[in-house]
Amino acid sequence: MSEEGYELAYIQEAFRTNWISPNGENVDEFEKQLAWRVGSNAAAALSSGTAAIHMALKAIGVEKGDIVFCPTFTFSATANPIIYQQAIPVFIDSDEDTWNMSPEALEEAFRRYPNVKAVLVVHLYGLCANMDAIMEICRQYRVPVIEDAAESLGSLYKGRYTGTIGDYGIYSFNGNKIITASGGGMLVSNNEERIAKVKFWSTQSRDPARYYEHSELGYNYRMSNIVAGIGRGQLHVLEKRIEKKKYIFEFYKKELSDLNCLAFMPVDEWTKPNYWLSVVLLKGTISPLEIIEALEEENIESRHVWKPMHLQPYFKNYDFIGKDVAENLFAHGVCLPSDTKMIDKDLEKIAAIIKKVVNSHAAI
Ligand SMILES: *Cc1c(COP(=O)(O)O)cnc(C)c1O
Repeated sequence: MSEEGYELAYIQEAFRTNWISPNGENVDEFEKQLAWRVGSNAAAALSSGTAAIHMALKAIGVEKGDIVFCPTFTFSATANPIIYQQAIPVFIDSDEDTWNMSPEALEEAFRRYPNVKAVLVVHLYGLCANMDAIMEICRQYRVPVIEDAAESLGSLYKGRYTGTIGDYGIYSFNGNKIITASGGGMLVSNNEERIAKVKFWSTQSRDPARYYEHSELGYNYRMSNIVAGIGRGQLHVLEKRIEKKKYIFEFYKKELSDLNCLAFMPVDEWTKPNYWLSVVLLKGTISPLEIIEALEEENIESRHVWKPMHLQPYFKNYDFIGKDVAENLFAHGVCLPSDTKMIDKDLEKIAAIIKKVVNSHAAI
């Protein structure tokens, strides 16, 4: 079978066996295989990564008025489920070494909010947060940790997969992620009892009775068997995707490393990222927008890095702990095109455009 051909076979199987409802072979198999792949005891396949974060917060018991620490440098989908639970996010700055949650800022946050209920950690762009330091602090305060590994499926931190180091981990299979099922998410944990509870909540909390009986609030968050079929097929290409993403990063690095007004995202030697996106920081007067617009003229899409949550109008009234690290990343960061379908010629063209913008600055 061709490398990308598994998806159709699994979907056809779903139709053949009439399992197009949320219960079926593809859902069970996708959960089993993903849990096995990352080394977790149990998994719940859900409708999105956002739903998985929501269910993780609920599994921990986060309720109205509880405080949850959350990185400021992330996509809003990390923070929104805190609000769904009517809890209170406190945003934590990044550090320069990892671009992810700063352990120093986290310690400061614990001093100010010792009664915090949960800590959300993100592994942005496939890079790993400093989990040893973060886990040590959280264990000391006995506060559970959720890892948002939506962008870092397959990234290794000291030999362990991101998403399996804390108490709960989530992955996303949205269209833009390293593997995609057209949508969907997964919650993993070694706590099998809690994962079973999440499956209960996410199928409308139906009590075991002959009729529809509900003693708890329910959600329609379960992954469909068709989506799970695509996800199962995509697991076969994860390793190849990571290889290509790494190739793209190394290519940019080789082509652009002599430009001293440009720095690449930090890849620590004890981590093996999935290189979901290749991200650079611009130094000096050159702005992300100049690069983005120069590429746009050639119909090539690139993006700003995430705008920090504490700078978002919606979240502006919540506390922020840290300095200006995330804000600086936002002011100077660019996500370079990282599509795995690109060939060397595409990458050469992109590098040439970037060099031209940078050199025109040097000439001024
Ligand atoms: C994509 C993403 C999510 C949400 O995943 P969905 O499946 O789109 O709901 C959460 N956190 C981060 C950091 C993401 O990039």
